[in-house]
Amino acid sequence: MITVLSGGTGSLKLIQGLLNFMKPEEVTLIVNTADDFEWQGLYISPDIDTAIYLLAGLLDENRFWGIKDDTFHFLSMMKRYGYPDWFSIGDRDLATHLHRTILLKKGYTLSDATNSLCKAFNIRVKILPMSNDKVTTFVKTDKGKFHFQEFWVKRKGEDKVLGVIFEGIEKAKPAPGVVESIKKSEGIIIGPSNPVTSIGPILGVSQIKKALERVNVKRICISPIIGGGPVSGPAGNLLRGIGVEVSPFGVASIYQGIIDEIFIDASDQAFTERIEGLGINVFCTNIVMRMEEDKVNLAKLVMERMKI
Ligand code: GDP
Repeated sequence: MITVLSGGTGSLKLIQGLLNFMKPEEVTLIVNTADDFEWQGLYISPDIDTAIYLLAGLLDENRFWGIKDDTFHFLSMMKRYGYPDWFSIGDRDLATHLHRTILLKKGYTLSDATNSLCKAFNIRVKILPMSNDKVTTFVKTDKGKFHFQEFWVKRKGEDKVLGVIFEGIEKAKPAPGVVESIKKSEGIIIGPSNPVTSIGPILGVSQIKKALERVNVKRICISPIIGGGPVSGPAGNLLRGIGVEVSPFGVASIYQGIIDEIFIDASDQAFTERIEGLGINVFCTNIVMRMEEDKVNLAKLVMERMKI
């Protein structure tokens, strides 16, 4: 069994590759929940939803969020009534948020709600929220402090980042199964997700970080940064904003003590010596996952390096 730390894009592409040759029961995902937010009383968990839709075969893989061929009649009616529509909620997607919200209102946890959603689609990969406690990412910018979704979706991530805050992180406990899965895994993967706002909050839960530091199996990370920037998303702006070099070296420095090896792109080989200076092994290969074949090849290489 392996455990993968995940956000909502890069790591999930790797999961697609892994599931090409691994049984779903052999994979556990620990998913970021600090991007979660409430929209008019609906509890939305974007990274968990993307994982569920992907594994259910429903994901709109062009956008890498939402359900393919979904319609947006609900949202356009809400807009007519004067509600904001910058966060797109599809009609079928709405049922997911509503079901989760109903369960949470009844007193169930985010883990329970996630299990219920996974059961509905017979998903056999274990999807674990990082925590059932509320953690919320805010981005401090030159234009003010914004919820991560407002910074990224509404304002297109264009403001100059001055810092990132994970509100509630000090008190957050790992969700049931998270530490156990790290402890019994034969290998740990930190997927190519945003190291600041996707993996950052997971590692911000102190008991998760401790478990990862102590575990005695190989821990591999795939860099989400190639050359001087991310493959997609705001990771570059965010790294710069927290004072970290936007490079595979910067990523490695964040994960020092948590990983044994980092996969960097073949074009970034020049970073090898500096990264090795952090006590982290470097493996250079193609880490851009455009086609199915790229995902499978990368996943196979990771498992080979893991010796599983
Ligand atoms: P989010 O929740 O949508 O922000 O998703 P993640 O944090 O999981 O993923 C965003 C990160 O994935 C970005 O920093 C990208 O650079 C990285 N990423 C996306 N596609 C690829 C890819 O094909 N290869 C690598 N190495 N990184 C990728």
